[in-house]
Amino acid sequence: TDSTKAQIGVTGLAVMGSNIARNFAHKGYTVALHNRSIAKTDALIEQHGTEGTFIRTETVEEFVAALERPRRVLIMVKAGAATDAVIEELASAMEPGDIIIDGGNALYTDTIRRERALAERGLHFVGAGISGGEEGALNGPSIMPGGPAESYKSLGPMLESISAHVDGEPCCTHIGPDGSGHFVKMVHNGIEYADMQLIGEAYDLMRKALDLPVAEIADVFREWNSGDLDSYLVEITAEVLSQVDAETGKPLVDVIVDAAGQKGTGRWTVKSALDLGIPTTGIAEAVFARALSSATDQRKQAQGLESGTLAAAPTDTKTFVDDINKALYASKVVAYAQGFDQIAAGSAEYGWDVAPGDLATIWRGGCIIRAKFLNRIRDAYAENPELPSLLLAPYFRKAVEDAVDSWRRVVATATTMGIPVPAFASSLAYYDALRSERLPAALTQGLRDFFGAHTYQRIDKPGTFHTLWSGDR
Ligand code: NAP
Repeated sequence: TDSTKAQIGVTGLAVMGSNIARNFAHKGYTVALHNRSIAKTDALIEQHGTEGTFIRTETVEEFVAALERPRRVLIMVKAGAATDAVIEELASAMEPGDIIIDGGNALYTDTIRRERALAERGLHFVGAGISGGEEGALNGPSIMPGGPAESYKSLGPMLESISAHVDGEPCCTHIGPDGSGHFVKMVHNGIEYADMQLIGEAYDLMRKALDLPVAEIADVFREWNSGDLDSYLVEITAEVLSQVDAETGKPLVDVIVDAAGQKGTGRWTVKSALDLGIPTTGIAEAVFARALSSATDQRKQAQGLESGTLAAAPTDTKTFVDDINKALYASKVVAYAQGFDQIAAGSAEYGWDVAPGDLATIWRGGCIIRAKFLNRIRDAYAENPELPSLLLAPYFRKAVEDAVDSWRRVVATATTMGIPVPAFASSLAYYDALRSERLPAALTQGLRDFFGAHTYQRIDKPGTFHTLWSGDR
């Protein structure tokens, strides 16, 4: 190897790219830097040039020439057309055996397409999901690289060294071929949506059903963070709720407009769930809840709609707070169970052979959904890699069974008090449907046969049946 050359190049030096470039440099790698506009490259060198060894480049040709072979280039640009443009420029300057890594939030079907096209030109393409935001990028993200197993041999150790570590294990592993890394990152983000919606519903209940002051709700979340719900999102919920607005002296949450934005990965997860036929209801409710919150004009006009008679608030605050805690936990198990079902279905559909236990392992640190709870998921899949549902793992089964009375009380109270809890309620409905011996789908089949001769199967003998309904003419 040539010591004057870089082991890795990073192109796209906005917040994510520059932080990852610095992370590589901190780990002792020589990093070649490139950005479409030179200003970002220079800013990085000026502010952080002494943190490690960087090679400044202006053109793609210079950038590619600065790398040792096989070349490794990490793209951190805006997902979509920009990524295609950058890939094309790089590919024409690179040589067979070189590796292009896309660390952006690409749609997995784009990754599949790009991998196929680059493989024809002898280049390795690695679609890598990277989670953890700016802070993770700098100090250790969770990394979900897909692509050829062969490229992971030379790339894996580098990615593992910059990733977060939990109990000495890196939060990075080879996920599987082509789009698997970005698919898994997409579902990870979907779970993040569900997690945040559930936290939001828990908060809303404490406010609207129990009338607790925001500062006290922050304390509840702080306390929850030292129990089963110990997680990054619960931890930062306490912080966000503790924040006081300097201008008004009110809790900051009360001056923030209640319309949630989204950048697309949650929506992609739900679209994929529909295509795969997997009931990822927790994530879907979370995506729709954001959409409803953003329909501000419609909401404004609907404000006078009659509520009907509402029930009184629960009298025992402490008991109800504990009930909410359990409802949150149980609903969270459902969201993860559904997310893992979707990953299993995607893996089967595309032939990826994704190991669910590995995901639980690499999501324990670095990423937004990191939680103590993931250790339990990891144990569950270690015990039984063929688990039909996370809800059937002995540990989670018991936890949810212990929580179910509380869960019902929470959903019933919310409903009778007119407080929307779409994710709590739909997760409980999912749980009840899953454990039901008989579902009204039998009637659906009857109806379909009635109006469309779609046929049905019988419980008592094999075959396909059609009834001559009295409505047939
Ligand atoms: P970003 O705002 O998504 O993208 C800005 C970067 O893209 C700039 O370097 C820009 O170059 C470059 N770019 C845009 N269009 C280009 C084109 N046509 N050709 C070449 N370069 C182009 O940056 P980011 O927030 O750092 O995110 C980078 C990627 O990481 C995205 O895919 C994002 O989805 C993903 N990601 C972000 C986070 C996060 O927390 N922000 C977390 C995980 C993953 P110029 O400077 O020349 O404009």
